[in-house]
Amino acid sequence: MERSPYKLPSQHGLASLGYFLLSGYYPRITWRTPPVTEQAYTGSMEYVTDPNLRPIVAKVEAGERLSFAEGMQLFDTPDLNTLMRLANLVRERMHGDKTYFVHSIRLEFTNICYVGCTFCAFAAHKDEARAWDYSPAQVVQEVSRRYLPGVTELHMSSGHHPNHKWDYYPEMVQSIKAAYPELQVKAFTAAEIEHLSRISKKSTLQVLTELQQAGLSAMPGGGAEIFADRVRKQIAKNKVKADKWLQIHDEAHSLGMRTNATMLYGHIETLEERLDHMDRLRTLQDGSLSKYGGGFHAFIPLAFQPMGNTLAQNLGKTDYTTGLDDLRNLAVARIYMDNFPHIKSYWVMIGSELTQVSLDWGVSDIDGTIQEEHIAHAAGATSPMALSQASMVKMIQNAGRVPVLRDAYYNEIKVFERNEIQAAD
Ligand code: SF4
Repeated sequence: MERSPYKLPSQHGLASLGYFLLSGYYPRITWRTPPVTEQAYTGSMEYVTDPNLRPIVAKVEAGERLSFAEGMQLFDTPDLNTLMRLANLVRERMHGDKTYFVHSIRLEFTNICYVGCTFCAFAAHKDEARAWDYSPAQVVQEVSRRYLPGVTELHMSSGHHPNHKWDYYPEMVQSIKAAYPELQVKAFTAAEIEHLSRISKKSTLQVLTELQQAGLSAMPGGGAEIFADRVRKQIAKNKVKADKWLQIHDEAHSLGMRTNATMLYGHIETLEERLDHMDRLRTLQDGSLSKYGGGFHAFIPLAFQPMGNTLAQNLGKTDYTTGLDDLRNLAVARIYMDNFPHIKSYWVMIGSELTQVSLDWGVSDIDGTIQEEHIAHAAGATSPMALSQASMVKMIQNAGRVPVLRDAYYNEIKVFERNEIQAAD
């Protein structure tokens, strides 16, 4: 049976409402779930109100992997308290209270794109007034304009430009590294790598190898959308196919590059298709860990933004994803994707307050300070375009967790103590 992510039974909403009211969990209040390892499951199976969850609770407590059917039980359960506590159990086993963020710059070097994904409000035709296209020298100027002391990561992803030649891309990375050798460049989604393979007539592995030689450190997780063919044909039919996306990440891992993985949810996909997406990533990660000793750093669910794109117009959709859907999705990911080091909340898409709540639902990373995001904001994201380092620290501390400033490789740069809020900027 096909299950819609939107028509959740009413008890889900009531349970969620009860949770928020009873927990007193709202922004700026320092409160959080009691540590699961100490209280939640020690002889406490009676608090599991969904009998279907009891064998799953036992498996997660024992550190065993869940099957696909068990993953679907997590999506279906009305027992949100148990779902949250299970996700928190996995999260705290891996990271305790530590919550990671990066001091970063986000840069889109062009919004000109020929691909035509129906969910996208960012892409422009080259003749449109809102189109931009930076040369390598202009990219360096843009980095300079956004640069702040302590920034470690430059995150770039952009449109598939119809005219740029291959040399433009390694030259851009080399120019950035010449001006800012300390910056770790995380750039080019697997969809972009496939595009570069086509225009250069090189294999995707060769493209990755040459970009790495130019100074590329890591790959972002974009372009994954939803792997299921049924959905991909409707939202991204001209984009890299699912198997190729996965192959490119495997190739990046084989070069020692670490990558992320995203999932765009909240449009036409079913819950089975979400879990299928997670399942394919879990399988690839198993292979990368065993073959190369490392692979994905983080899984990042991206909430569909309903403004300015044809998919939303065709669906008549003006609503954003619900907070409950966002949290359930993160929790299922944390429990099911047991070999991913981090589940990341992207505060740009779900907002700072829900990001705080998500730290109890399996999330251990909240991305970065960003300095100008344009892709989600073109589609209606209502969050700020950037956050200061102090804001990130406060966001995490006010949710009762320990902020950890990391770099693009997840090396810990600084662990913030409670009295360091004011000193963070
Ligand atoms: S999502 Fe990316 S590839 Fe698709 S149309 Fe937008 S910019 Fe182009």
